[in-house]
Amino acid sequence: MTELPARRLLLVHAHPDDESINNGATMARYAAEGARVTLVTCTLGERGEVIPPELRQLTGPALGAHRRGELTAALRALGVTDARLLGGAGRYGDSGMMGTADNDDPDCFWQADVDEAAGHLAEVILEVRPQVLVTYDDNGGYGHPDHIQAHRVAMRAVELADERGHRVAKVYWNRVPRSVAEAAFARLRGELPVLPFDEGASVGDVPGVVDDERITTTVDGTAHAAAKAAAMRAHATQIEVAEPYFALSNALAQPLFTTEYYELVRGTGQRGETDLFAGVEEAA
Ligand SMILES: [Zn+2]
Repeated sequence: MTELPARRLLLVHAHPDDESINNGATMARYAAEGARVTLVTCTLGERGEVIPPELRQLTGPALGAHRRGELTAALRALGVTDARLLGGAGRYGDSGMMGTADNDDPDCFWQADVDEAAGHLAEVILEVRPQVLVTYDDNGGYGHPDHIQAHRVAMRAVELADERGHRVAKVYWNRVPRSVAEAAFARLRGELPVLPFDEGASVGDVPGVVDDERITTTVDGTAHAAAKAAAMRAHATQIEVAEPYFALSNALAQPLFTTEYYELVRGTGQRGETDLFAGVEEAA
């Protein structure tokens, strides 16, 4: 049996691009520090809207395959080598936005049996034995069905792994402190005239924004800002980057955060932590 690195971080995301937007700096930092960083992506995002006009002919499985390539390039930029697709490639299809008919498709992730999907993730947990797992809150950060489902599957998989002999010491949800988001959007409004975006998004468009007191953990990824921006650029069908801002397919500018924030929801930690592994015993 090959020996596992002392620190092991597992991230659970809905689509290719979510890892880079939410946790790119964190992933690059821990990978650079020698931790094992494992990403599980639940769908290939084959219903995503494509930004570059020359790539808009990509839809369905062709878009999924293309986005898989974008994910590979993004992870190369982050220095992350362990990436999995939940249940194997193509097991779960992308769902649409809440309330759309796409979510009735029996193959979409929103229709997945949570226990079955969590079983696939529990297998990964039992293999990798992460001390830390990162995912979204129970609203998926902003209400997208695949993000809500990724949350449910991740939280259930932690329970299943527990029953089968591996306890994940700490579980975090992705967050942005309201004061940080508000300050960043104030700056953005001032700089908008010189940005390649016509309009700005607003604080309400940013997933996971909560009152500052709910933040337990701040990961300074400033040293890995370039890696995060490169990873986001690799998702060219989904993201347009103009540092320190970016836009999704709605073309609304928003801040690109290189310090990333978390709320500890399982395990013990101190408010004001600056390391996801704080207090974790680094044993196999
Ligand atoms: Zn997503």
